[in-house]
Amino acid sequence: MHDQIARLIRADIRALTAYHVPDPAGLVKLDAMENPYGWPDSLKAEWLDVLSSVALNRYPDPQGSIVQAALREAMGIPSDLGLLLGNGSDELIQMLALAVAEPGRKILSVDPSFVMYRMIARFAGMEYVGVPLRPDDFSVDLPAVLDAIAQDQPALIYLAYPNNPTGNRFDSDDMVRIIEASPGLVIVDEAYAPFTDCSFLGLLGDWPNLLVLRTLSKMGLAGLRLGYLVGPPVWLAEIDKVRLPYNINILTQASAAFALRHKPLLDEQARTIRAERTRLFAALSNLDAVRPYPSEANFILLRTAKGRADPIFNGLKDQGILIKNLNGSHPMLEDCLRVTVGQAEENAAFLNALTRLL
Ligand SMILES: *Cc1c(COP(=O)(O)O)cnc(C)c1O
Repeated sequence: MHDQIARLIRADIRALTAYHVPDPAGLVKLDAMENPYGWPDSLKAEWLDVLSSVALNRYPDPQGSIVQAALREAMGIPSDLGLLLGNGSDELIQMLALAVAEPGRKILSVDPSFVMYRMIARFAGMEYVGVPLRPDDFSVDLPAVLDAIAQDQPALIYLAYPNNPTGNRFDSDDMVRIIEASPGLVIVDEAYAPFTDCSFLGLLGDWPNLLVLRTLSKMGLAGLRLGYLVGPPVWLAEIDKVRLPYNINILTQASAAFALRHKPLLDEQARTIRAERTRLFAALSNLDAVRPYPSEANFILLRTAKGRADPIFNGLKDQGILIKNLNGSHPMLEDCLRVTVGQAEENAAFLNALTRLL
């Protein structure tokens, strides 16, 4: 069987390790940029009422028309822009790559950034070009990006705005220079839109090659798996052709449409998370032994003293707190940890445990 595997499975796939998610059982979960707040019981009851009328024996609406309308209304997406739904924004990142993949074609992003850009480029058989961010503040090295664009002529550029896992938001003028220099599509990935005041959504149409990618995951609906791509309809009509039929299941369609009708609650939760982020950042800044990086997302990247990230990560876990250890994931993230902003008590527990370890 091993011979067969070696013969059949592509060498570049065999060389990968599957995306690993640790078991969070019993731990305070501050590792995955989830919204820590649930819904009030009355709203849950209303939601269950909606679900009870869903016809599970039928295929879902292939276009997700009701969710699309709810998204347009809740997010202010004008009718002259196209909208495409994905099973999480991950699926849209993959659909974009599949639609343009050809031997020799490249995907460009900055490094370190969202790991799926690189992985999906590989899945699609495309080459990935990662232009290093500036190591001191993780800002875009614009001359380096412009050089790489001229050199590699990428078919796709993904820019996370704000960036994951660093938390900073790139300079908007740098973004515009990149869009204008790009011979291909530029996808501005706004997964963290609820936690910043800046967006390219309102600028769609200003450049023919700009698309904006969003998700409901980080705003409180990670379990639903719903992402959306917005941009000129002619582009989205092409990308739509590689979408698998019925990619958004019927429970997600019903639940997302319901949740979006209650967007003020999600907005309120995002405001609370932003306030907690400010408090957590201030508390981390007061500790001598770690350096937090400014964040416009719902997490904070921090750098520990040399060689301390692994023991701190493990020590936190021993005290029942799960965060993300980025040490070893990228040379620029040596000694780095990433903590998701949780509820006030969770953040306090994290700070307590961290202080004890330092
Ligand atoms: C979390 C994240 C996503 C993926 O979101 P899903 O919609 O849950 O697939 C996409 N882009 C960035 C930058 C992220 O951090």
